Amino acid sequence: MDATKDSMNETAFRAEVAAWLARELKGEFACLRHRGGPGDEEAFPALRKDWERKLAEGGWVGASWPQEHGGRGLPLELQLAFHEEYVRAGGPGRMGHIGETLLAPTLIELGTPEQQRRFLPGIREGREFWCQGYSEPGAGSDLAAITTRCWQDGDVWRVQGQKVWTSLAHESDWIFVIARSTPGSVGREGLTFLLMPLDQPGIEIQPIRQMTGEAEFNAVFFDGAATDAGCIVGKPGEGWRVAMALLGFERGASTLGQQMHFVHEMQLVVDAAIAIGTAFDPAIRERIADAWIGLRALRHNALRMLAGNDGGVRPESLMYKYAWSNWHRDLGQLAMDVLGAAGDVRSDDDTVRRLQQVFFFSRADTIYAGTNEIQLNIIAERALAMPR
Ligand SMILES: Cc1cc2nc3c(=O)[nH]c(=O)nc-3n(C[C@H](O)[C@H](O)[C@H](O)COP(=O)(O)OP(=O)(O)OC[C@H]3O[C@@H](n4cnc5c(N)ncnc54)[C@H](O)[C@@H]3O)c2cc1C
Repeated sequence: MDATKDSMNETAFRAEVAAWLARELKGEFACLRHRGGPGDEEAFPALRKDWERKLAEGGWVGASWPQEHGGRGLPLELQLAFHEEYVRAGGPGRMGHIGETLLAPTLIELGTPEQQRRFLPGIREGREFWCQGYSEPGAGSDLAAITTRCWQDGDVWRVQGQKVWTSLAHESDWIFVIARSTPGSVGREGLTFLLMPLDQPGIEIQPIRQMTGEAEFNAVFFDGAATDAGCIVGKPGEGWRVAMALLGFERGASTLGQQMHFVHEMQLVVDAAIAIGTAFDPAIRERIADAWIGLRALRHNALRMLAGNDGGVRPESLMYKYAWSNWHRDLGQLAMDVLGAAGDVRSDDDTVRRLQQVFFFSRADTIYAGTNEIQLNIIAERALAMPR
């Protein structure tokens, strides 16, 4: 490997990304800088969809996908470089990440050529937005307990039941759903993975308001909702395999872009500590230093986890989701301690508002995509081979 050539490539690539963002993230899009994303999804959703199309025109949506599927086949180092430059420029939280980083890699791996032709362009061009229909009121950590049913009805499949905590369903065009197709089946057997249009009479979306004050996720009700028979990924009854492949992407590379925003949040905490004077408190200084070291360790760990794999979960990287989500939750607590009393009340100050969002939303990081306890069970069983 020619390391000098590689680093020159990366330098040139970073310059290309930075120049594109400097050119495009202005004018009507200027208000999007550092807005949107977890805890701030209600910020300018329509404009952020326009931004997705702008990103797509620049070739930045699906850039990590293989070239034969319309991507750029970016290697990991350049994906990371893109995310870092994106955050440095203040790029807004992505509206299309569920389609781009969860469904698309799953379709590339397990979808039919027709499904790839039908769905990948809509994601890559920022025209079609997706949400994830896994969790139910009685099935979260124990996903195999789902009771939502599906069945074939002529040329279509129908779905009956309820999903919950469905992020961005109210802003999406499509949902991927895991439902029980074999009557009487239990656990992982008899499940089917369906792609469904949301805009139809058999689907009702009810927003759920969170402690952040926003409604980013929803309850989604299905009452005989229909989708084409060609919209089943994998075979009927083999949905668990597809659902787990997708979850591998969710616990792996999909949150990388989101984590790059941690660098900006960390800087906000440092700036606030200096401005308020809490930076002179030795205990706070030590926690800031620890947080910074933790952030560097996370970056290194992300590279280690993703190097040379297909985005799935590797045994040695099973602690990754646990590590980043707990680091982020601790950063939210540190931010509140830095702000002191100012953090306890609503504020129009941009930094205070953003750090309060970090504090509130980071409580959810240790829940979605596998709670802390579930992650610890996984580490114990799969990484440490401890008895169940
Ligand atoms: C911000 C956010 C966004 C989300 N977005 C989506 C989405 O878009 N689509 C979607 O389908 N879902 C989504 N979810 C749901 C998420 O996947 C579930 O919340 C998660 O899987 C946990 O399930 P639960 O909430 O039902 O908790 P439960 O599974 O009921 O767990 C309750 C508690 O029991 C513990 N527990 C459960 N089982 C065990 C065990 N075996 N051993 C030890 N402890 C255990 C858990 O760790 C937890 O502390 C989202 C959640 C959040 C917070």
